Amino acid sequence: MDRHKDPEKPYRGRFAPSPTGPLHLGSLLCAVASFVDARHHAGSWHLRIDDLDTPRIQSGATSAILEILESAGLTWDGPVLYQSRQLEKYDAALSCLEQQGLVYACTCSRKALQQLSAQKGTPGVYPGYCSNKDNPPTIAHALRLRTDSTAIGFKDRIQGYQEQDVSHRVGDFIVRRKDRIHAYQIAVVVDDQSQGISHVVRGIDLLESTARQIFLQRKLSLSSPLYAHIPLVVDPQGTKLSKQSGAKGIRNKRVSKVVHDALCLLRHPPPVDMANASSPELLSWAIEIWDIQKLEKLESVA
Ligand code: GLU
Ligand code: ZN
Repeated sequence: MDRHKDPEKPYRGRFAPSPTGPLHLGSLLCAVASFVDARHHAGSWHLRIDDLDTPRIQSGATSAILEILESAGLTWDGPVLYQSRQLEKYDAALSCLEQQGLVYACTCSRKALQQLSAQKGTPGVYPGYCSNKDNPPTIAHALRLRTDSTAIGFKDRIQGYQEQDVSHRVGDFIVRRKDRIHAYQIAVVVDDQSQGISHVVRGIDLLESTARQIFLQRKLSLSSPLYAHIPLVVDPQGTKLSKQSGAKGIRNKRVSKVVHDALCLLRHPPPVDMANASSPELLSWAIEIWDIQKLEKLESVA
């Protein structure tokens, strides 16, 4: 078992839900996996609320999330970090990129971009349309980061070696949106740094974003955490659980039942004599025997 604590680099994990609705089974799985992985490594576990995307935030969601975590015994260390209170840090990171000449204004509309990238046969890739234009700052614009064709490689602890050329895959990407909201990609990099996160355990839907985050970390001279992307929860037919069905699943069940289900999905089914165990008991049991390799290469679980 790899339970030793490395004094050079203490394990600091985190869970970073978006308060866009109640926790659903997929996000609870991330909470349980990142918590158990952190505690198994005698690490700390931190909570961040990703509340930047104000138009999508649902009032009351944050307190509902905190309540579920508390009642499950998923206790976090230190204060909760709210992204909405870190805006100055994101601006400082943007200026650092600007000083390197890496940021430019993009006035393209979503519709124009769809047409342009489809014409070029590369849907979803920014075609660099504004990269050499001097868009006047008075026009509403997004800020994009200049990418280059370096292959970004990293070893995911679950999904194995990954490699992506960001310029090829997504192109120059947005670091501040047209509505002036900082993009998730830059916020997550700044926050993982300021919370001193050493290990990120999160859903596989973000595997795609990781190369962009590592690209940003390099441009900002930040170290990269280790990444582990856990499988997506699907229904027995193989379709992604909708937010509604996953959320309902949580609300209608006892929290210990949900944590039990989560551990089964994470390939750590509790023994039969723990059928009536409380959530903290189930978590302590999982922390002892946790082996993230049981999820190796798994992209979805049902
Ligand atoms: N807030 C993001 C989400 O709920 C997670 C961000 C992250 O783990 O990096 O999808
Ligand atoms: Zn543009």
